[in-house]
Amino acid sequence: RKRDGKNGAQVFDEAMLDQTRERAEIENDIDLAITASWFEAHLQPIVDITTGQPSGFEALMRMRHPRKGLMSPASIIGVAEENGTIGQIGNLILEDAVANLARVSRLPGMRDTYVAVNFSPLQFDHALPTRLSGILGRYGILPSRLVVEITEAVLMHDNPDIRTILNEIHEFGCRIALDDFGTGYSSLSYLSRFPVDIVKIDQSFIRSLGEPASEIGRKNTMLIEGIRAISHQMNCKVVAEGVETAEQRSLLMQMGVDYAQGYYFSKPREISELLSVLSVEMTD
Ligand code: C2E
Ligand code: CA
Ligand code: CA
Ligand code: CA
Repeated sequence: RKRDGKNGAQVFDEAMLDQTRERAEIENDIDLAITASWFEAHLQPIVDITTGQPSGFEALMRMRHPRKGLMSPASIIGVAEENGTIGQIGNLILEDAVANLARVSRLPGMRDTYVAVNFSPLQFDHALPTRLSGILGRYGILPSRLVVEITEAVLMHDNPDIRTILNEIHEFGCRIALDDFGTGYSSLSYLSRFPVDIVKIDQSFIRSLGEPASEIGRKNTMLIEGIRAISHQMNCKVVAEGVETAEQRSLLMQMGVDYAQGYYFSKPREISELLSVLSVEMTD
């Protein structure tokens, strides 16, 4: 319809132009960010659901833009995957994540915590296992303390070597987490075909928990129970994502979920803030 009238065409063109401009701006920001080191790995605790103590931390990418402030990955990752800069960004985030884990590790009670890092499909090349072991070695972090988070998109990617690379990383001692579980096309089959250690139940299932009159809430409860049971039978630990209330936590605990992550426990934090919060919690 927008193509019809003269005015409409103008609106349409302007919208397209805006999109192109925005994209060019993001690409430009990414290039600046890589050279000027604006990328940071913020950390969000993944807690033992019964004790509330951190078992590890998910590294979430942020871009600290000097003028625009702290930028979230939503707009950046997609562009970076398309223009191929995701490889460089991924390496920077991985390095910062491991460096931050090394700093957290020095606090009492944090020696065995892990860091979980998100990986895009294009990051899986044959050099990845060597790159991982190199970074871990430099910071003196055991391989078991790095969790590689992948989504179904990684496993569906038409890279025939993905299984070989994942197996190599797994045999080296890193753990593999399947992210956003339950939202894809055939999540269940991946549990038997790939070396998965951890299943992360997507936050869309958690959101409606504890809404008493909600049909969706009741159904999602059944789905979570099913995913929990299957995952445990496959020897996988289960993390619930996006836990925002005490009620959600206690329901998930009753369902036998192992770990939880979400604003109820903590938002993602930059390293200096995380270190001071963890230090205060420990002296409480
Ligand atoms: P994800 O891997 O599913 O990460 C969880 C997202 O949920 C994060 O958003 C986190 O900040 C947010 N979150 C955590 N707790 C809660 C909660 O209680 N409620 C709600 N509503 N949200 C919560 P974020 O940081 O904006 O990241 C978005 C996505 O960007 C991530 O989703 C991941 O797919 C991608 N991403 C982030 N960092 C990286 C990275 O370093 N590399 C790659 N390839 N992707 C990344
Ligand atoms: Ca993730
Ligand atoms: Ca997720
Ligand atoms: Ca997600």
